[in-house]
Amino acid sequence: MKDWISIAIDGPSGAGKSTIARQLAKRFGFIYVDTGALYRSIGWYALEQGVFPGDLEKVEPLLAQIHLELKYEGGEQRVYLNGQELSGKIRTPEVSMAASQVSPLPPVRRFLFDLQRNMAQISNVIMDGRDIGTVVLPNATLKLFLTASPEDRAQRRCQELLEKGVQVTYDEVLADVQKRDYNDSHRAEAPLRQAEDALLVDTTGNSLEQSITQISGILLEKLPQLQKKEARNVL
Ligand code: C5P
Repeated sequence: MKDWISIAIDGPSGAGKSTIARQLAKRFGFIYVDTGALYRSIGWYALEQGVFPGDLEKVEPLLAQIHLELKYEGGEQRVYLNGQELSGKIRTPEVSMAASQVSPLPPVRRFLFDLQRNMAQISNVIMDGRDIGTVVLPNATLKLFLTASPEDRAQRRCQELLEKGVQVTYDEVLADVQKRDYNDSHRAEAPLRQAEDALLVDTTGNSLEQSITQISGILLEKLPQLQKKEARNVL
């Protein structure tokens, strides 16, 4: 069996994980797996069904009705729930909160576990989330824990949402970031924490380009086999 390379990137919301992981995946020819999108899809479905996303008794039976698929179109991940493409619908602040409410529920985490792990068995992946290095891919080839101050993260997320036309204020986004940080790191099941063998990267004060340069440098240093892959992708 081929030894696929897996890079786990964990960290709190808004640390830039997804933007950075997406670009690195393109540069090195990996598949980028955005696991937050899976939790968002379950949160979205609960809202659609009129169910409070944090209600275990109500959410658990919904899982049997859900068929989730990850597809890659032009290198971009698309999530399909029961055949419906959700990607755009799951990026609202309401769905962010719903994702953070369904994510502590053990049946939800179990439901998504195989889908995530299977991706790393069929391809080289860069996978981002909260528990990738600790739970989903404990044997990942390289683990990074990406963080930045809550204020920096709120500032970036605010800008991202405004660019997408979602009307929000900085204070609302900061409160949301702090609430999600609290929820993600205080839950009993797979809480957000740095794996012992993960490298800590703090991007506070960095521009996106600086963070990408810094992290590409780490990848090339730790995984020299990527130099050949990069050359192939650049050509
Ligand atoms: O990364 P993103 O902000 O899209 O994730 C949405 C929510 O999904 C997070 O706030 C977190 O509660 C949950 N999540 C998780 N485990 C992951 C990825 C996301 O609990 N691996």
